[in-house]
Amino acid sequence: MDKKTEPGNVQDVDAVIIGAGFAGLGMLWRLREQLGMSAQVFETGDGVGGTWYWNRYPGARCDSESYIYCLTFSPELLQEWNWSGKYPEQPEILSYINHIADRFDLRRNIKFNTRVTTARFIEDTNRWEVETDQGDRVTAQYLITGIGCISAGNIPDIKGLETFEGESYHTGAWPHNEVDFTGKRVAVIGTGSSGIQSIPVIAKQAESLTVFQRTPQYTIPARHETVDRKFLDEQVKPNYEEILEKARWSKAGFPVEFSERLALEATAEERQEAYEAGWAKGGHGFLWGSFKDIGVDRRANDTAAEFIRAKIREIVKDPETVEKLLPTDHPLGSKRALIDTNYFETYNRENVELVDIRHSPIQEITPDGIRTEDEDFEFDMIVFATGFDAMTGSFFKMDIRGRDNLSLKDKWAEGPKTYLGLQVAGFPNMFMITGPGSPSVLANMTVAIEQHQDWITDFIEHMRTHDIEVAEADADAESAWVSHVNKIAESTMFMLADSWYLGANIPGKPRVFMPYVGGLGTYREKCNEVADNDYEGFVLNAGVRQLAT
Ligand code: NAP
Repeated sequence: MDKKTEPGNVQDVDAVIIGAGFAGLGMLWRLREQLGMSAQVFETGDGVGGTWYWNRYPGARCDSESYIYCLTFSPELLQEWNWSGKYPEQPEILSYINHIADRFDLRRNIKFNTRVTTARFIEDTNRWEVETDQGDRVTAQYLITGIGCISAGNIPDIKGLETFEGESYHTGAWPHNEVDFTGKRVAVIGTGSSGIQSIPVIAKQAESLTVFQRTPQYTIPARHETVDRKFLDEQVKPNYEEILEKARWSKAGFPVEFSERLALEATAEERQEAYEAGWAKGGHGFLWGSFKDIGVDRRANDTAAEFIRAKIREIVKDPETVEKLLPTDHPLGSKRALIDTNYFETYNRENVELVDIRHSPIQEITPDGIRTEDEDFEFDMIVFATGFDAMTGSFFKMDIRGRDNLSLKDKWAEGPKTYLGLQVAGFPNMFMITGPGSPSVLANMTVAIEQHQDWITDFIEHMRTHDIEVAEADADAESAWVSHVNKIAESTMFMLADSWYLGANIPGKPRVFMPYVGGLGTYREKCNEVADNDYEGFVLNAGVRQLAT
């Protein structure tokens, strides 16, 4: 659809795509260029980029190495694009996404500054009717969400929040102008991925930085550096397809070998040697490259956790700060694995202080700063690195209604229910890119996103060639998938931490493990099997009524 939708006019397109990040852009390209369909993308921001449009906080960069954090539908682009860092930094990722939008002429189908407010499935027409806050009304056969898993920001409801007279920011909604910390007394609340990346950078600029930590974290040095051009030119670019295939079928979307060794069968010296090697090399390889029982056996996990605690004791000079930083209440890797640049070292700076809010909780935010049980702090700025209402929050910002006017919010009141993380029973022809119940957030995101884009594209092509108007997850297939997702999560260490994977960071959110933990390769196999079996678990036609439960 080339024309802009005008308020009041109803436009008809084949597909509405929500979101113009990696997910929405790649989906638009596939539908338009591979299937010749018309599509309208709606995007809240005034530019493309999704996560990388919003998360502009200091130090923001991706934890996946740059050569494997990419869209792969254009082999030419893969060969031509040159990242400058080992890990891609936010400004560069954003310029990469902008390049994609320009190079493939994607902007003409995107309406920016436009939030989808409602999407209803109209049973008489078998079409979705989508409305936006700009007065657009569009109908489409398909509704495809590319709204991100970690995009609905969470600022905790702390007493006095609105009274603070200084500047305050959430890492996931960072301003587009530069925030200058020079000469400022800054507070950072939260020590997840965003906090751990921003704290060392803010500390270098601010007059003082006070970090409010609820849960101490395990984090491994990223060993970020400029990109290894020789490695890229000689090993990656000539072998890109092979490398990508390996990543696609791997556990987590990376072209790496997982260790087959068991920590509990190794001697103490062998373990120390393996952990030291992983620490020196840096990155997530510390986990997958050392021992395979770290993720499944608490005693094995303890050996790696203790190694990291020893590193914290070694790096951080002040014994009281060390005590606060030592993670002991959850296994390594049970919350999102972290990699950092000078995180623990930052606590040796004279201008940095750590406040343990487990022992001295925040009581309120005052006009001048933050009051804990024990102390009044004065600040010019508060940075909320307090995370997101992950996986479901961004869906609930819209009123999505399927058959029988059932709202997605009601359907998911006790936790998300999906078939393969791709569809929801009762919501025909709605596809989710990286929806809950898929491995997305436990994998390299671009690889997970493209698997969904390709699978959805194939499914829609199948529907078109077989004159299928409506595809809808079968309620029994959905229940079976939800049980499977829960069952495999139960046997893992992920259940032993209060993480956003479980919704534990949002007061009142049902405690349900949301991603599929069985691995990206296994999941891809399952999705392919479903397709090969004539889209088993989906009801394919125009007239079958599903009772949405
Ligand atoms: P997060 O991991 O959920 O961390 C939020 C932090 O805020 C945690 O330390 C949390 O403490 C704390 N917090 C939450 N509510 C609080 C409250 N009421 N009072 C005090 N502290 C509170 O959020 P994030 O750091 O923004 O990261 C979210 C996800 O985005 C990551 O897990 C990752 O998947 C993705 N991400 C990736 C990258 C990357 O690739 N490098 C960078 C940033 C984000 P508790 O731990 O006690 O809950």
